[in-house]
Amino acid sequence: MVEQCCLQTLQQVAGEEYHIRSKVALCVVASSHKKDAQQQLDFVLFSKKTSKATCVIQLQSVIKQDESAVDTALAKAGIRLYRLPRKSSYSISSIRQLLDSYLEKPAATPDEMIATISTKAFRQCKKCKSLMELKRASAGPHTGMLFWVCAEYPECASVELYTE
Ligand SMILES: [Zn+2]
Repeated sequence: MVEQCCLQTLQQVAGEEYHIRSKVALCVVASSHKKDAQQQLDFVLFSKKTSKATCVIQLQSVIKQDESAVDTALAKAGIRLYRLPRKSSYSISSIRQLLDSYLEKPAATPDEMIATISTKAFRQCKKCKSLMELKRASAGPHTGMLFWVCAEYPECASVELYTE
C-alpha cells in the first residue's frame, strides 16, 4: 500500500521523463558484492532518454537494517539516493521538492535551441548586409547542423556555418 501510494506520486512528478520501476535488485542498476546483489531497491528512476538508472528512492524500513552496501554501490555508480520516511500518503509537492534539484529539465527541442541562440546572436550578411537567420539543416549531409542563412535568401545565397 505504502509503495503503491508513493509510486503513484512519483509517477505524477517524474513520470514524463522517467520510467519508474519498483522492487529492483541492486545488481540491476549498480555492480555490487554478491551478497548484496539481490538487495531490493524500492523505486528506481530510469531516464527515458538514455534508459539508464539515474535515481533511487528508498523507503525507510521499519526494521533497522544495514543498507550501507546500497549506499556504497549507488555512490560508485553515480546514482543519487533519496530516503523517504514510510508514510501512508505522500504529497506531490513534497516529492517534487525532494526531486526538484535532481530532475533534469527536458532537453531543448531544435526549435527552442534556435530561438535561444537567435536572441543572443545575430550576424550580418557579408554580401548584402541584411541580417542573417539561424537555421538547422533538416536534410542532406549536414543534417542537424546550424547555419546562418541570409534573410534575403534565395535572392542572396549567402550561407555560413554556425560556430560557437
Ligand atoms: Zn545576403
